[in-house]
Amino acid sequence: MPELNGKNAIVTGGSRGIGREICRALARAGANVAFLYAGNEAAADETLEIIKEAGVSGFSYKCDVSDPSAVKETFKSALADLGGVDILVNNAGITRDKLAMMMSEDDFDRVVDVNLSGAFYCSKAVVPTMVRKRSGKIINITSVSGIMGNAGQANYSASKAGLIGLTKSMARELAARNITCNAVAPGFVETDMTAALRENNELAGSIPLKRFARPDEVAGVVLFLASSAADYITGEVIRVDGGLAI
Ligand code: NAP
Repeated sequence: MPELNGKNAIVTGGSRGIGREICRALARAGANVAFLYAGNEAAADETLEIIKEAGVSGFSYKCDVSDPSAVKETFKSALADLGGVDILVNNAGITRDKLAMMMSEDDFDRVVDVNLSGAFYCSKAVVPTMVRKRSGKIINITSVSGIMGNAGQANYSASKAGLIGLTKSMARELAARNITCNAVAPGFVETDMTAALRENNELAGSIPLKRFARPDEVAGVVLFLASSAADYITGEVIRVDGGLAI
């Protein structure tokens, strides 16, 4: 199992779903974990408990990642509470699905603001510290929708494809400072986001491995990318999709 003793990690969207499992995996590997969430206090408290049970320090912050000034303030607090940052996981994300012709401008903008601009704001907030340290790992949670496109998800697919572009550009910009930037692209994962889809047997049948992923199966790949085992990997997009986008 990868070892992250003494490392400090910040995870966005850590209160539920994939983000919670990422917090759990990083904490179990020995990292102190701070996470951001949108507003679900009860879920955030549960994640905080999970982190502390692993015997590391845990911190939670309510912060909308699409608000650049809130992100600046929150990261200032997180960096002070943790005493630095080695790992950032941009996981916070939302969907507002509709066919493009019926999609409102607000629904398009909101999804891009949270999923793409949010990741940019959070990355900007950690890069100076990582540059000074000459090390760091940034991991963005994109989606196979950003690779293949998906009917009904023009906003989401655009935001996730943009996140892949952000990942590759930042990987090139930061490589000289020994900071890696990679993306993980899940297919369908069993979380609140896909609750309405899980009854659809045809959907699972269309996945070569014939099932949705568990959130911990995504977290395991994030843990690998956060560890020294992935020191020579940057600008990569790893699909965790059961073969969906082969
Ligand atoms: P989820 O269960 O809906 O959880 C979303 C998380 O993001 C929650 O912690 C939520 O906080 C937080 N969040 C939402 N909007 C936010 C904002 N504006 N600012 C800060 N935090 C915010 O989602 P998930 O399924 O775990 O998805 C996690 C990531 O994986 C997303 O980027 C998603 O696009 C990606 N992904 C998911 C799937 C899938 O099948 N589930 C597939 C591919 C990619 P609250 O709890 O406070 O609301």
